[in-house]
Amino acid sequence: MTRQIKIATLTVGGRAPVRVESMLKERLSGEREDMEKCRAQCERLLAEGCELARLAFPSPDLEKPLEWLLQHTRLPIMADIHFDPDLALAAMRAGCASIRINPGNMPLHKLTTLIDTAKDKGVVIRIGANGGSLSGRHREQSKGDSGVALFLAVKEQADLLLQRGFCDIILSAKSSSVPDTIRANGLLASAYPDLPTHIGITEAGPGDGGIVKGVSGIAALLSQGIGNTLRVSLTDEPEREVRVGYAILRALELRQRGPNLISCPTCGRRRADVRELVKLVEPLISGLPDGTTVAVMGCEVNGPKEAANAQYGIAGTPVGAVLFKNGTMVGNYSFDSLPSALPEFFSSRGDIGG
Ligand code: SF4
Repeated sequence: MTRQIKIATLTVGGRAPVRVESMLKERLSGEREDMEKCRAQCERLLAEGCELARLAFPSPDLEKPLEWLLQHTRLPIMADIHFDPDLALAAMRAGCASIRINPGNMPLHKLTTLIDTAKDKGVVIRIGANGGSLSGRHREQSKGDSGVALFLAVKEQADLLLQRGFCDIILSAKSSSVPDTIRANGLLASAYPDLPTHIGITEAGPGDGGIVKGVSGIAALLSQGIGNTLRVSLTDEPEREVRVGYAILRALELRQRGPNLISCPTCGRRRADVRELVKLVEPLISGLPDGTTVAVMGCEVNGPKEAANAQYGIAGTPVGAVLFKNGTMVGNYSFDSLPSALPEFFSSRGDIGG
């Protein structure tokens, strides 16, 4: 188990649950409209369960806008710093409780003031290496193994911080290659077993392909016990990144947020149009307690048993569907009567007769 660190009140590592992160895609600027857009995106992310959001911080002119944002959202923010350690100092002056630095573009000899200031202010530093910004030196040292190069990039700065007595560190090594990312994180976990890690696959892409890449890498690492915070990087809305992040944790039974919807893939035996049933059910179950299992099954082969094992179950029958609650059959319904019966079924009472 890693040590636990705190970003303001957010615990990371140790016995804390795996945290779900995203990154603001709105651009922070001194314009009120942009600041409001960032604040609104923070609120939407919070509503999805996002626990930490990175924010691009490319200019010292953003110190005041960042200060404003931090005062107007409860979402913990991590300032994303590249090239210039003075930007990290500006973000810390604004009150930011965590910063990310990129070892590929941050000169080592300029880090000392940044480290000492972070220590004074209790700011967490994430050392986040990306496959796309590795230095030629680390590539050479790794003899062309990009996973090893990522590891070496993070190691160099982690060692510097640790030597200066700074331990509030999160390690992160990401690439758009799943195998490289897994290799780099395995090396980091062996070298620094007590430091928390942030995991993800960077530049994973859009749509199904992006989700599959992110899920493949993140799930493989979590299954090895590696990863204390995660981000599913997608060319999509950040809220979707958070939803997919929770879906991974739910699938691995590491964390529950929202209901667990089970539905069969359907086949020629189906008695009900499961896709239509899912469309009816999904809007009705978002308010159910975290981890509530809802099963929507197409026929009597697996349906009744699977549905009966769920807190709420629906299985197709020759004339409609049978509803179960906590293993007890509630009743048989015709397809036409389901739209009016289901809201009451999923309501807090939920014990309607058949
Ligand atoms: S539950 Fe029935 S309809 Fe669904 S996949 Fe299994 S056999 Fe097919």
